[in-house]
Amino acid sequence: MQRRSFLKKAGAGAAIGALAAPAYAQGAPEVKWRLASSFPKSLDTLYGAAEVISKRVAAATNNKFQIQNFAAGEIVPAFGVVDAVQNGTVECCHTAPYYFFGKDPTFAFSCAIPFGMNCRQQNAWMYHGGGMQLMREFYKQYNIINFPAGNTGAQMGGFFRKELKTVNDMKGLKMRIGGFAGVVLQKLGLVPQQIPGGDIYPALEKGTIDAAEWVGPYDDEKLGLYKVAKYYYYPGWWEGGPEIDLFVNQKAWDALPKDYQAILEAAYPMPSG
Ligand code: CA
Repeated sequence: MQRRSFLKKAGAGAAIGALAAPAYAQGAPEVKWRLASSFPKSLDTLYGAAEVISKRVAAATNNKFQIQNFAAGEIVPAFGVVDAVQNGTVECCHTAPYYFFGKDPTFAFSCAIPFGMNCRQQNAWMYHGGGMQLMREFYKQYNIINFPAGNTGAQMGGFFRKELKTVNDMKGLKMRIGGFAGVVLQKLGLVPQQIPGGDIYPALEKGTIDAAEWVGPYDDEKLGLYKVAKYYYYPGWWEGGPEIDLFVNQKAWDALPKDYQAILEAAYPMPSG
């Protein structure tokens, strides 16, 4: 304020704006991106993780690099986000990669595989064990560069409308289950259903499905699953530490200034759980 009043007195009002803003911000280009999430806004941790990214990126660039976030279904369906990034409809998305194991089972490796790694192990593999390099080679064919951006930690087994007493009770059961695990449970006669998080509750309530797993108590409560299915089982041995990823369109990434790239890369803190 002292500087402003000095300049005003000196009759240099026109120079105030230029002096108040740091030189960096003046030369920085404005970049506006759209991010399509696979999650509904009601999930403040999963949907919120992408908001952490966009807020940090904006704060670190004096609002020059803005990422507008959209919930599942707002501009892209929950399971359409990889196609949307691949073809450049949006610059980036935030999703659980194993949703796309039908395109190629390799997607599941940057998320979770049955009896796979916990959160720390997944991070260790991605950042220090060559996982990032392998996954980036894989994602190239989708015009995608991937960044780990969240991890739910170990998950629960799910909510069931009827009590399970023996493994035979799994036979014919229609269950919403994320990722590759459904392929394994099919061996027990279970009928896996791929349903986005925001659509699970009505399906379970109507009885279209008999069971559903989502994440764990915190997120499952937000979806209201306990209201329509009374039996909650664990462990979710198919999800020891599912990684959530930010997928960025390769051309959009290449077009970013180097400092924006570094800021985006550092925008999400590595989970340690
Ligand atoms: Ca899950």
